[in-house]
Amino acid sequence: MYRKSAWQKYKDHTPIMSFAEGYKSFISNAKTERLATKLAIALLQARGFKDGEKLSSVKPGDRVYFINHGKNVAAFIIGKKPIKEGLRILGAHIDSPRLDLKENPIYEDHNLVYADTHYYGGIKKYLWVTIPLALHGVICKKDGSVVEVHIGEDPKDPVFGITDLLIHLSADQLAKPGSKVVEGENLDISLGSIPVEEDEKDAVKHNILNLLKQKYDIEEEDFVSAEIEAVPAGPARDYGLDRSMVAGYGHDDRSCAYTSLMALLETEEVETTACCILTDKEEIGSVGPTGAQSLFFENTVAKLLAMSGEARPLFEARMTLERSKMLSSDVSAGFDPLYASVSEPKNSAYFGQGIVFNKYTGRGGKGGSNDADPSFYAWVRNVMDENDIHWQSAELGRVDQGGGGTIAYILGNYNMDVLDAGIAVHNMHAPMEILSKVDLYEAYRAYKAFLAAK
Ligand code: MN
Ligand code: MN
Repeated sequence: MYRKSAWQKYKDHTPIMSFAEGYKSFISNAKTERLATKLAIALLQARGFKDGEKLSSVKPGDRVYFINHGKNVAAFIIGKKPIKEGLRILGAHIDSPRLDLKENPIYEDHNLVYADTHYYGGIKKYLWVTIPLALHGVICKKDGSVVEVHIGEDPKDPVFGITDLLIHLSADQLAKPGSKVVEGENLDISLGSIPVEEDEKDAVKHNILNLLKQKYDIEEEDFVSAEIEAVPAGPARDYGLDRSMVAGYGHDDRSCAYTSLMALLETEEVETTACCILTDKEEIGSVGPTGAQSLFFENTVAKLLAMSGEARPLFEARMTLERSKMLSSDVSAGFDPLYASVSEPKNSAYFGQGIVFNKYTGRGGKGGSNDADPSFYAWVRNVMDENDIHWQSAELGRVDQGGGGTIAYILGNYNMDVLDAGIAVHNMHAPMEILSKVDLYEAYRAYKAFLAAK
Protein backbone atom coordinates (compact mmCIF):
# COMPACT_ATOMS: atom_id res chain seq x y z
CA MET A 1 0.00 0.00 0.00
CA TYR A 2 1.57 3.29 -1.09
CA ARG A 3 0.38 6.44 0.54
CA LYS A 4 1.90 9.85 0.75
CA SER A 5 4.29 10.31 3.65
CA ALA A 6 2.85 11.56 6.91
CA TRP A 7 5.52 14.29 6.80
CA GLN A 8 3.77 15.74 3.72
CA LYS A 9 0.53 16.13 5.66
CA TYR A 10 2.14 18.70 7.95
CA LYS A 11 3.14 22.10 6.53
CA ASP A 12 4.84 22.88 9.83
CA HIS A 13 7.02 20.15 11.34
CA THR A 14 7.57 22.02 14.62
CA PRO A 15 5.01 20.09 16.73
CA ILE A 16 6.49 16.77 15.50
CA MET A 17 10.04 17.85 16.31
CA SER A 18 9.13 19.24 19.70
CA PHE A 19 7.16 16.11 20.66
CA ALA A 20 10.29 14.10 19.81
CA GLU A 21 12.36 16.28 22.17
CA GLY A 22 10.15 15.23 25.08
CA TYR A 23 10.44 11.62 23.98
CA LYS A 24 14.24 11.78 23.66
CA SER A 25 14.48 13.12 27.18
CA PHE A 26 12.17 10.34 28.42
CA ILE A 27 14.10 7.41 26.91
CA SER A 28 17.46 8.93 27.79
CA ASN A 29 16.39 8.82 31.43
CA ALA A 30 14.12 5.75 31.43
CA LYS A 31 16.80 3.13 30.75
CA THR A 32 15.07 0.47 32.89
CA GLU A 33 11.50 -0.47 33.80
CA ARG A 34 12.06 1.00 37.28
CA LEU A 35 13.30 4.32 35.90
CA ALA A 36 10.47 4.40 33.35
CA THR A 37 8.00 3.89 36.20
CA LYS A 38 9.57 6.69 38.24
CA LEU A 39 9.42 9.10 35.31
CA ALA A 40 5.84 8.06 34.56
CA ILE A 41 4.84 8.80 38.17
CA ALA A 42 6.42 12.26 37.96
CA LEU A 43 4.58 12.98 34.68
CA LEU A 44 1.28 11.66 36.08
CA GLN A 45 1.55 13.72 39.26
CA ALA A 46 2.37 16.85 37.27
CA ARG A 47 -0.92 16.35 35.35
CA GLY A 48 -3.06 15.92 38.45
CA PHE A 49 -3.09 12.13 38.82
CA LYS A 50 -3.30 10.89 42.43
CA ASP A 51 -1.92 7.73 44.00
CA GLY A 52 -4.95 5.39 44.05
CA GLU A 53 -3.66 3.56 47.14
CA LYS A 54 -4.18 6.75 49.13
CA LEU A 55 -7.77 7.35 47.98
CA SER A 56 -10.93 5.80 49.38
CA SER A 57 -13.32 6.68 46.57
CA VAL A 58 -13.34 7.77 42.94
CA LYS A 59 -15.85 9.70 40.83
CA PRO A 60 -16.09 10.73 37.17
CA GLY A 61 -13.26 13.04 36.15
CA ASP A 62 -10.82 11.70 38.77
CA ARG A 63 -7.28 10.94 37.64
CA VAL A 64 -5.64 8.07 39.52
CA TYR A 65 -2.67 5.73 39.18
CA PHE A 66 -1.50 2.50 40.79
CA ILE A 67 2.07 1.19 40.93
CA ASN A 68 3.15 -2.46 41.16
CA HIS A 69 6.57 -3.31 42.65
CA GLY A 70 7.98 -0.07 41.22
CA LYS A 71 7.90 -1.66 37.75
CA ASN A 72 4.29 -1.37 36.48
CA VAL A 73 1.92 1.53 36.11
CA ALA A 74 -1.86 1.48 35.70
CA ALA A 75 -3.30 4.99 35.28
CA PHE A 76 -6.95 5.93 34.78
CA ILE A 77 -9.19 8.86 33.98
CA ILE A 78 -12.62 7.96 35.34
CA GLY A 79 -15.28 8.40 32.66
CA LYS A 80 -18.75 9.87 32.89
CA LYS A 81 -20.24 6.44 32.18
CA PRO A 82 -19.98 3.79 34.93
CA ILE A 83 -16.55 2.12 34.97
CA LYS A 84 -18.18 -1.30 34.56
CA GLU A 85 -19.37 -0.42 31.06
CA GLY A 86 -15.77 -1.08 30.00
CA LEU A 87 -12.42 0.64 29.73
CA ARG A 88 -10.50 2.14 26.84
CA ILE A 89 -7.01 0.71 27.40
CA LEU A 90 -3.59 1.61 26.00
CA GLY A 91 -1.02 -0.99 27.05
CA ALA A 92 2.71 -0.93 26.41
CA HIS A 93 5.76 -2.52 28.00
CA ILE A 94 8.64 -0.70 29.65
CA ASP A 95 11.23 -3.49 29.85
CA SER A 96 13.79 -3.76 27.05
CA PRO A 97 16.47 -6.30 26.13
CA ARG A 98 19.64 -5.84 28.16
CA LEU A 99 22.27 -7.65 30.23
CA ASP A 100 21.43 -8.45 33.88
CA LEU A 101 24.16 -9.02 36.45
CA LYS A 102 24.13 -12.61 37.74
CA GLU A 103 23.51 -13.38 41.42
CA ASN A 104 27.23 -14.05 41.98
CA PRO A 105 28.67 -11.73 39.36
CA ILE A 106 32.11 -10.60 40.43
CA TYR A 107 35.33 -12.46 39.63
CA GLU A 108 38.97 -11.75 38.92
CA ASP A 109 41.03 -13.22 36.10
CA HIS A 110 44.64 -12.19 35.33
CA ASN A 111 44.40 -8.95 37.31
CA LEU A 112 41.14 -7.89 35.62
CA VAL A 113 37.83 -7.87 37.44
CA TYR A 114 34.56 -8.66 35.68
CA ALA A 115 30.85 -8.71 36.40
CA ASP A 116 29.22 -11.78 34.86
CA THR A 117 25.84 -11.23 33.19
CA HIS A 118 22.86 -13.18 31.89
CA TYR A 119 21.18 -11.55 28.92
CA TYR A 120 17.48 -10.61 29.17
CA GLY A 121 15.22 -10.85 26.12
CA GLY A 122 16.20 -11.65 22.56
CA ILE A 123 19.52 -10.10 21.53
CA LYS A 124 22.16 -10.52 18.85
CA LYS A 125 24.98 -10.96 21.36
CA TYR A 126 27.69 -9.70 19.02
CA LEU A 127 26.05 -6.24 19.04
CA TRP A 128 26.62 -5.77 22.79
CA VAL A 129 30.44 -5.81 22.77
CA THR A 130 32.72 -2.76 22.36
CA ILE A 131 30.02 -0.23 23.23
CA PRO A 132 29.88 1.93 26.37
CA LEU A 133 27.47 0.48 28.93
CA ALA A 134 25.85 2.03 32.00
CA LEU A 135 24.69 0.15 35.10
CA HIS A 136 21.28 0.85 36.65
CA GLY A 137 19.36 -0.94 39.35
CA VAL A 138 18.82 -1.74 42.97
CA ILE A 139 20.59 -3.77 45.62
CA CYS A 140 18.29 -4.94 48.41
CA LYS A 141 20.03 -5.49 51.74
CA LYS A 142 19.02 -7.82 54.57
CA ASP A 143 18.16 -4.86 56.81
CA GLY A 144 15.40 -3.88 54.36
CA SER A 145 17.24 -0.92 52.87
CA VAL A 146 17.50 -0.52 49.11
CA VAL A 147 20.59 0.93 47.47
CA GLU A 148 20.09 2.51 44.05
CA VAL A 149 22.89 2.23 41.53
CA HIS A 150 23.19 4.51 38.50
CA ILE A 151 26.62 4.73 36.88
CA GLY A 152 27.56 5.68 33.35
CA GLU A 153 25.05 8.26 32.12
CA ASP A 154 26.70 11.43 33.45
CA PRO A 155 29.61 12.37 31.12
CA LYS A 156 31.82 12.54 34.24
CA ASP A 157 30.93 8.93 35.20
CA PRO A 158 33.02 5.98 34.11
CA VAL A 159 31.38 3.58 31.64
CA PHE A 160 31.63 -0.19 31.37
CA GLY A 161 31.89 -2.55 28.47
CA ILE A 162 32.47 -5.99 27.05
CA THR A 163 35.55 -6.80 25.01
CA ASP A 164 35.63 -8.40 21.58
CA LEU A 165 38.50 -10.18 19.92
CA LEU A 166 40.85 -8.05 17.85
CA ILE A 167 40.45 -8.61 14.09
CA HIS A 168 44.12 -9.66 13.88
CA LEU A 169 43.41 -12.86 15.82
CA SER A 170 39.82 -13.53 14.73
CA ALA A 171 40.38 -16.20 12.08
CA ASP A 172 38.53 -18.88 14.09
CA GLN A 173 35.88 -16.53 15.49
CA LEU A 174 34.84 -15.16 12.09
CA ALA A 175 34.27 -18.66 10.73
CA LYS A 176 31.51 -19.22 13.33
CA PRO A 177 27.77 -18.63 12.72
CA GLY A 178 26.45 -15.26 13.95
CA SER A 179 24.75 -16.83 16.97
CA LYS A 180 28.14 -18.14 18.17
CA VAL A 181 30.47 -15.25 17.26
CA VAL A 182 30.02 -13.91 20.78
CA GLU A 183 28.78 -16.48 23.31
CA GLY A 184 26.34 -15.61 26.10
CA GLU A 185 28.76 -16.72 28.78
CA ASN A 186 31.36 -14.29 27.39
CA LEU A 187 29.15 -11.24 28.00
CA ASP A 188 31.17 -10.21 31.04
CA ILE A 189 31.60 -6.58 31.95
CA SER A 190 34.99 -5.09 32.82
CA LEU A 191 34.94 -3.44 36.26
CA GLY A 192 38.58 -2.62 37.05
CA SER A 193 42.28 -3.40 37.17
CA ILE A 194 43.88 -1.75 40.24
CA PRO A 195 44.92 -4.14 43.05
CA VAL A 196 44.92 -3.39 46.79
CA GLU A 197 48.34 -2.66 48.26
CA GLU A 198 48.79 -6.09 49.83
CA ASP A 199 50.19 -8.76 47.53
CA GLU A 200 47.36 -11.28 47.81
CA LYS A 201 45.12 -13.48 45.67
CA ASP A 202 42.28 -11.57 43.94
CA ALA A 203 43.82 -8.25 44.97
CA VAL A 204 41.94 -6.34 42.23
CA LYS A 205 38.61 -7.86 43.22
CA HIS A 206 39.42 -6.93 46.81
CA ASN A 207 39.89 -3.32 45.72
CA ILE A 208 36.60 -3.28 43.74
CA LEU A 209 34.73 -4.71 46.75
CA ASN A 210 36.32 -1.99 48.91
CA LEU A 211 35.05 0.66 46.48
CA LEU A 212 31.55 -0.84 46.55
CA LYS A 213 31.66 -0.89 50.36
CA GLN A 214 32.73 2.77 50.49
CA LYS A 215 30.25 4.03 47.91
CA TYR A 216 27.17 1.89 48.63
CA ASP A 217 27.89 0.15 51.94
CA ILE A 218 27.30 -3.26 50.35
CA GLU A 219 28.96 -6.67 50.69
CA GLU A 220 29.62 -9.06 47.81
CA GLU A 221 26.76 -11.30 48.96
CA ASP A 222 24.27 -8.44 48.56
CA PHE A 223 24.38 -8.94 44.76
CA VAL A 224 22.29 -12.07 45.35
CA SER A 225 19.28 -9.87 46.10
CA ALA A 226 19.89 -7.21 43.48
CA GLU A 227 18.63 -6.21 40.05
CA ILE A 228 21.42 -4.47 38.18
CA GLU A 229 20.98 -3.98 34.45
CA ALA A 230 23.72 -3.13 31.96
CA VAL A 231 22.30 -0.95 29.20
CA PRO A 232 23.78 1.22 26.43
CA ALA A 233 25.20 4.40 28.01
CA GLY A 234 24.34 7.91 26.88
CA PRO A 235 21.33 9.84 25.60
CA ALA A 236 19.10 9.33 22.57
CA ARG A 237 20.08 11.45 19.57
CA ASP A 238 18.58 12.90 16.42
CA TYR A 239 19.34 10.63 13.46
CA GLY A 240 19.81 11.69 9.85
CA LEU A 241 20.79 14.95 8.17
CA ASP A 242 17.17 16.07 8.25
CA ARG A 243 16.81 15.01 11.91
CA SER A 244 13.73 13.02 10.93
CA MET A 245 14.54 10.02 13.13
CA VAL A 246 15.62 9.21 16.69
CA ALA A 247 18.47 6.84 17.54
CA GLY A 248 18.28 5.44 21.03
CA TYR A 249 18.10 2.47 23.32
CA GLY A 250 14.70 0.99 24.21
CA HIS A 251 12.30 2.26 21.51
CA ASP A 252 10.89 -1.26 22.01
CA ASP A 253 8.71 -0.49 23.75
CA ARG A 254 9.23 2.80 25.53
CA SER A 255 8.26 4.69 22.37
CA CYS A 256 4.77 3.21 22.64
CA ALA A 257 4.82 3.57 26.43
CA TYR A 258 5.62 7.29 26.15
CA THR A 259 3.08 8.02 23.41
CA SER A 260 0.39 6.03 25.24
CA LEU A 261 1.11 7.77 28.53
CA MET A 262 1.19 11.22 26.88
CA ALA A 263 -2.12 10.47 25.16
CA LEU A 264 -3.68 9.80 28.57
CA LEU A 265 -2.00 12.82 30.21
CA GLU A 266 -3.21 15.14 27.44
CA THR A 267 -6.78 13.86 27.69
CA GLU A 268 -9.08 16.04 29.78
CA GLU A 269 -12.41 14.34 30.34
CA VAL A 270 -13.77 11.13 28.85
CA GLU A 271 -17.09 9.33 28.45
CA THR A 272 -15.51 5.87 28.79
CA THR A 273 -12.94 5.38 31.56
CA ALA A 274 -9.51 5.74 29.93
CA CYS A 275 -6.53 3.71 31.01
CA CYS A 276 -2.84 3.33 30.29
CA ILE A 277 -0.93 0.30 31.54
CA LEU A 278 2.84 0.04 31.40
CA THR A 279 3.96 -3.53 31.99
CA ASP A 280 7.25 -5.33 32.65
CA LYS A 281 8.76 -8.67 31.54
CA GLU A 282 7.23 -8.60 28.04
CA GLU A 283 10.60 -9.50 26.55
CA ILE A 284 10.67 -12.76 28.52
CA GLY A 285 7.01 -13.75 28.12
CA SER A 286 5.11 -11.26 30.35
CA VAL A 287 5.64 -13.58 33.30
CA GLY A 288 5.79 -13.07 37.07
CA PRO A 289 4.17 -10.49 39.35
CA THR A 290 5.03 -7.50 37.14
CA GLY A 291 4.34 -9.10 33.73
CA ALA A 292 1.08 -8.63 31.84
CA GLN A 293 0.00 -12.13 32.91
CA SER A 294 0.00 -11.00 36.56
CA LEU A 295 -3.33 -10.43 38.31
CA PHE A 296 -2.15 -6.91 39.18
CA PHE A 297 -4.25 -5.23 36.50
CA GLU A 298 -7.41 -7.25 37.16
CA ASN A 299 -7.04 -6.61 40.90
CA THR A 300 -6.50 -2.92 40.26
CA VAL A 301 -9.69 -2.69 38.20
CA ALA A 302 -11.49 -4.45 41.07
CA LYS A 303 -10.09 -1.90 43.53
CA LEU A 304 -11.25 0.93 41.31
CA LEU A 305 -14.75 -0.58 41.09
CA ALA A 306 -14.85 -0.98 44.87
CA MET A 307 -13.76 2.65 45.24
CA SER A 308 -16.57 3.72 42.90
CA GLY A 309 -19.11 1.90 45.08
CA GLU A 310 -19.62 -1.39 43.20
CA ALA A 311 -20.88 -4.12 45.55
CA ARG A 312 -19.29 -7.09 43.70
CA PRO A 313 -15.98 -5.63 42.51
CA LEU A 314 -14.20 -8.91 41.66
CA PHE A 315 -17.04 -10.14 39.45
CA GLU A 316 -17.54 -6.70 37.93
CA ALA A 317 -13.78 -6.43 37.22
CA ARG A 318 -13.97 -9.46 34.93
CA MET A 319 -17.09 -8.11 33.23
CA THR A 320 -15.51 -4.66 32.91
CA LEU A 321 -12.47 -6.17 31.20
CA GLU A 322 -14.69 -8.19 28.87
CA ARG A 323 -16.46 -4.98 27.83
CA SER A 324 -13.18 -3.10 27.27
CA LYS A 325 -11.35 -2.09 24.12
CA MET A 326 -7.57 -2.07 23.92
CA LEU A 327 -4.76 -1.00 21.66
CA SER A 328 -1.79 -3.18 22.53
CA SER A 329 0.89 -0.58 21.92
CA ASP A 330 4.07 -2.26 20.79
CA VAL A 331 6.64 -1.58 18.11
CA SER A 332 6.59 -3.16 14.65
CA ALA A 333 9.39 -4.24 12.33
CA GLY A 334 10.11 -1.30 10.03
CA PHE A 335 10.77 -2.28 6.40
CA ASP A 336 14.51 -2.02 5.82
CA PRO A 337 15.53 -1.68 2.13
CA LEU A 338 18.94 -3.18 3.00
CA TYR A 339 17.19 -6.36 4.15
CA ALA A 340 14.11 -6.28 1.93
CA SER A 341 14.06 -10.05 1.44
CA VAL A 342 12.71 -10.74 4.96
CA SER A 343 9.61 -8.61 4.34
CA GLU A 344 6.58 -8.95 2.13
CA PRO A 345 6.18 -5.44 0.68
CA LYS A 346 2.36 -5.29 0.58
CA ASN A 347 2.18 -6.13 4.27
CA SER A 348 5.13 -4.25 5.76
CA ALA A 349 5.45 -1.23 8.03
CA TYR A 350 7.23 1.77 6.51
CA PHE A 351 8.90 4.77 8.13
CA GLY A 352 6.84 7.93 7.66
CA GLN A 353 3.56 6.09 7.09
CA GLY A 354 2.17 6.56 10.58
CA ILE A 355 1.00 4.19 13.29
CA VAL A 356 1.15 0.48 12.40
CA PHE A 357 -1.69 -1.93 13.08
CA ASN A 358 -1.00 -5.67 13.16
CA LYS A 359 -4.13 -7.79 13.01
CA TYR A 360 -1.90 -10.60 14.20
CA THR A 361 1.72 -11.15 15.16
CA GLY A 362 3.13 -14.56 16.13
CA ARG A 363 5.28 -17.03 14.24
CA GLY A 364 4.72 -19.94 11.86
CA GLY A 365 0.96 -20.28 11.37
CA LYS A 366 0.29 -17.10 13.42
CA GLY A 367 1.26 -19.07 16.55
CA GLY A 368 1.00 -17.07 19.77
CA SER A 369 -0.83 -14.12 18.25
CA ASN A 370 -4.01 -12.34 19.31
CA ASP A 371 -5.51 -12.11 15.78
CA ALA A 372 -7.84 -9.18 16.34
CA ASP A 373 -11.52 -9.39 15.59
CA PRO A 374 -12.15 -7.74 12.19
CA SER A 375 -15.17 -5.79 13.46
CA PHE A 376 -13.01 -4.15 16.10
CA TYR A 377 -10.30 -3.44 13.52
CA ALA A 378 -12.96 -1.77 11.35
CA TRP A 379 -14.06 0.36 14.31
CA VAL A 380 -10.42 1.44 14.87
CA ARG A 381 -9.94 2.26 11.16
CA ASN A 382 -12.97 4.49 11.32
CA VAL A 383 -11.63 6.31 14.40
CA MET A 384 -8.29 6.85 12.64
CA ASP A 385 -9.80 8.13 9.39
CA GLU A 386 -12.22 10.46 11.18
CA ASN A 387 -9.28 12.01 13.00
CA ASP A 388 -7.04 12.27 9.91
CA ILE A 389 -4.42 9.96 11.37
CA HIS A 390 -1.85 8.28 9.11
CA TRP A 391 -2.00 4.54 9.70
CA GLN A 392 -0.76 1.43 7.96
CA SER A 393 -1.39 -2.28 8.35
CA ALA A 394 1.45 -4.78 8.44
CA GLU A 395 2.76 -8.17 9.39
CA LEU A 396 6.04 -8.57 11.24
CA GLY A 397 7.77 -10.05 8.18
CA ARG A 398 7.58 -12.70 5.45
CA VAL A 399 5.74 -15.90 6.30
CA ASP A 400 8.05 -18.34 8.11
CA GLN A 401 10.90 -15.83 8.37
CA GLY A 402 10.62 -15.59 12.17
CA GLY A 403 8.16 -13.75 14.32
CA GLY A 404 7.36 -12.25 17.68
CA GLY A 405 4.60 -11.49 20.12
CA THR A 406 3.19 -8.75 22.33
CA ILE A 407 0.91 -8.53 25.38
CA ALA A 408 -2.18 -8.41 23.10
CA TYR A 409 -3.25 -12.04 23.54
CA ILE A 410 -2.97 -11.84 27.35
CA LEU A 411 -5.55 -9.05 27.64
CA GLY A 412 -7.45 -10.75 24.81
CA ASN A 413 -7.92 -13.68 27.20
CA TYR A 414 -10.43 -11.51 29.08
CA ASN A 415 -12.53 -11.64 25.93
CA MET A 416 -11.91 -7.94 25.31
CA ASP A 417 -11.27 -6.47 21.86
CA VAL A 418 -7.53 -5.96 21.37
CA LEU A 419 -5.57 -4.76 18.34
CA ASP A 420 -1.78 -4.49 18.09
CA ALA A 421 -0.86 -0.90 17.31
CA GLY A 422 2.57 0.68 17.41
CA ILE A 423 5.55 2.36 15.84
CA ALA A 424 7.84 0.95 13.13
CA VAL A 425 11.41 0.48 14.34
CA HIS A 426 14.70 -0.37 12.64
CA ASN A 427 17.34 -2.43 14.50
CA MET A 428 14.75 -3.82 16.92
CA HIS A 429 16.46 -5.18 20.08
CA ALA A 430 19.85 -3.72 19.09
CA PRO A 431 21.60 -1.35 21.51
CA MET A 432 20.71 1.50 19.11
CA GLU A 433 17.20 1.33 17.67
CA ILE A 434 15.78 3.83 15.16
CA LEU A 435 12.32 5.26 14.66
CA SER A 436 10.72 8.07 12.66
CA LYS A 437 9.60 11.18 14.54
CA VAL A 438 6.46 11.56 12.47
CA ASP A 439 5.41 7.98 13.26
CA LEU A 440 5.98 8.70 16.94
CA TYR A 441 3.74 11.76 16.63
CA GLU A 442 1.03 9.95 14.67
CA ALA A 443 1.02 7.14 17.27
CA TYR A 444 0.46 9.72 20.00
CA ARG A 445 -2.40 11.28 18.03
CA ALA A 446 -3.85 7.84 17.29
CA TYR A 447 -3.82 6.85 20.97
CA LYS A 448 -5.49 10.13 21.94
CA ALA A 449 -8.20 9.65 19.31
CA PHE A 450 -8.78 6.08 20.54
CA LEU A 451 -9.32 7.25 24.12
CA ALA A 452 -11.73 9.97 23.04
CA ALA A 453 -13.69 7.97 20.43
CA LYS A 454 -17.40 7.40 21.03
MN1 MN B 1 7.87 -5.01 22.27
MN1 MN C 1 10.78 -6.72 21.96
